[in-house]
Amino acid sequence: MRNMADRRRTCLKSAPDNLIFHLKRFDFDLTDFSRKKVHEHFAFPESIDIGLYNVDHLSEPSKPHIADMFDLVGVVVHFGNCENGHYYSYIRKRPGTFGDALPTWLNFNDEQVDPFDPAEIPQKAFGGFVEDGYTRQYKMYSAYMLFYQRRTAIAGDQQEWVVSPQTQPPQVEVPLPIRHDIELTNDTFIREYCLFDPHHSAFVRHLHSASQKISNGSCSETHEYESRAIDILLAHLGRIVWRQQTTGIFDEFLTHLRRTVLSCEMCCSTVLQWLAKDEEALYNLLLRCPHSNVRSQMRSFVVDCLRVLQATDAYVYITTADSDWASYADGETGVLVPIAKRLALLAENSAKISRAWDDLYLLLTQIAELGHLETAALLDTGLLEFCLRLFCMHARPQLVDGYIDFHRAFQKRTGVFNRLIGFVSTLLSHLDIDLPAFDIKDRMLNIDKEHMMYSLTSMEKSLLLCWHSEHKAYAVIDKMIDVFDHSEAERFYPGEIVKWLTRSTDIHIQREITTMITQGISELNTPYCDPYIRLASSYCEAVSSLEALKKVCDAVVDTVAALEQLVDEKAAPSGGDVLRFLQHAFSLCNAHVTTADVHEYLISQSPKYASVLLLYSDESVRDGTHEFVRDLDTTYMKDSQHLDCAYYSARATVSEIIKRIVYELGAGMPRMQLSPLLDTGKFLVSLLFELDQSEDVDLASCKDAVDRALIYQWRIEVEARVRMLPDVEPSSPGEGVFDASDYGSESDDVELLDP
Ligand SMILES: [Zn+2]
Repeated sequence: MRNMADRRRTCLKSAPDNLIFHLKRFDFDLTDFSRKKVHEHFAFPESIDIGLYNVDHLSEPSKPHIADMFDLVGVVVHFGNCENGHYYSYIRKRPGTFGDALPTWLNFNDEQVDPFDPAEIPQKAFGGFVEDGYTRQYKMYSAYMLFYQRRTAIAGDQQEWVVSPQTQPPQVEVPLPIRHDIELTNDTFIREYCLFDPHHSAFVRHLHSASQKISNGSCSETHEYESRAIDILLAHLGRIVWRQQTTGIFDEFLTHLRRTVLSCEMCCSTVLQWLAKDEEALYNLLLRCPHSNVRSQMRSFVVDCLRVLQATDAYVYITTADSDWASYADGETGVLVPIAKRLALLAENSAKISRAWDDLYLLLTQIAELGHLETAALLDTGLLEFCLRLFCMHARPQLVDGYIDFHRAFQKRTGVFNRLIGFVSTLLSHLDIDLPAFDIKDRMLNIDKEHMMYSLTSMEKSLLLCWHSEHKAYAVIDKMIDVFDHSEAERFYPGEIVKWLTRSTDIHIQREITTMITQGISELNTPYCDPYIRLASSYCEAVSSLEALKKVCDAVVDTVAALEQLVDEKAAPSGGDVLRFLQHAFSLCNAHVTTADVHEYLISQSPKYASVLLLYSDESVRDGTHEFVRDLDTTYMKDSQHLDCAYYSARATVSEIIKRIVYELGAGMPRMQLSPLLDTGKFLVSLLFELDQSEDVDLASCKDAVDRALIYQWRIEVEARVRMLPDVEPSSPGEGVFDASDYGSESDDVELLDP
């Protein structure tokens, strides 16, 4: 066995005039099976002597070799990564200019061609790192292909083409197909340039104004010229104006449109007909346009046109002069149905333009709010079913097919769903879930004329009531509260929908809503349980019996009561939401329950929630709870019939508060944080003290032997300890200071305890 050094190499027998080198910038990473771009630094020379790689030379390196020089004439650069990127080229001008010593280079980047300094090649094409003194990262651009040409060939071309300054630049016949292509490109370019010229927009507006001047400043009876001018105007608006970089021209256009169109119902009708029929204009103006100002102005213009028609002449609005709803069935010639259909189509094609959803669904909501007729037109397009499908996808995966882009938007986007949910809520407010569901095309013909309500189709109903067994909730509501942005909202639309559902007389539905809300509150932690507490508030507004109301309130109160001494707020519902729930219940408006009954419930439960909420880390929750307990007691005790219950609850709350204070003082909680708890305790103890001291015979039955013991306990265990705290710093004189007890001194004990 012999150890031999092997060498493998590639030699060239002969080279052509042009050499192209392909750099291996893209690689496959076997560790994670992904494509990678190789960003490493790689230098290449201005010239190469290919003679050094010739097979004759490499076979006998001792012999002098024949130089065969090649010069770099082109570099293709790749910018980007392996998933996406862009190519451009640096090219040496050949033949060069007559008499020039140095070659000139050009940078070809799509239709952009600029001079290029070849001295920049190392920096712009070698790859490697870019450093700015702080960070160091790979350049996104590096040479991908190199073009070298034999020096003698370059010189030959130069000699053949550039013989004198007069032959500069060399003229070559352009092949016919290329010449046609150039002419076409130039033609398109100049047309586009003119289309986007601001003067063109002014001309189109002027044309429309002129059409009205023909009949002395107002519209003619036949509208022959006006309609044709509106065609041109809207086509320009929907194809050109929305693309402008700034919104100035659009603003002028819309001001012009509003001034001329909204004063004439015939023109309004023409505009809406045109917008409904055109495949692009509304899509461009309401969805694609990046300027939110354009989208929102367009939205209000469409609504205003509908309003004009609604208020004036029904026949252009629906079908015939006969405004009987039966004529609605063949409403194809009116504007309402085509506009509704066009907007439904936009909604179905809006998956990738979620930034425009707010305007689109606000427009749909505003149309539905115009009345029953408008709502029916929207319902008949299937928009409600479409929206409900979107919110059901997580519970019924088979619905994802055909809505894959929406599915992605629901997973990725935030803060774009509020108006969509608001629109569903508006549509539902025109529907009665208790009416028998059936599949009808013309909702208007099947309205419940007594209550002016429509029925749901069986599909809408089944989507709406689709139960997510794992989440123990209606899938639609479950998804809505998941994506609803509470911080941005003016109204809590999922709550509106729950309120609407709660009004159903169907016992099965009522049972499911109660389960959904109580489970959501008691089984989830913050922040997931918080929207369910908000839903509970909406539910309380619509619920039909005190018992049902108490069931949901119990869920809130018991969840709070279950928290141990120190509030573990990770497991707790948000204090702000609980407090808002209690405040909302306190001033509840519900025809099925009396205020006194709700107040009695809140008073009787206060021992469970008050002391816990008074210890939340959020200062506004602590202060708010103190005020809430004080207001609740004060309001409730105005009726002498309620005193018994109020005192009973005050005793229980005081005893709970004393327990908490003693524990927290022992655990070293600062005095400041305890303030609202102390203030509330003080307020309730003072109620008991006044009762004890009162000689009113009516109050005699309310008195309880335990009161004196409680007052005594408060003085000894709370006041005495707080007074001894080192960090007592009264926030204002006379407030929250325990210098002396309001309920007798220790020497009064005998008197207090022994009446
Ligand atoms: Zn007109």
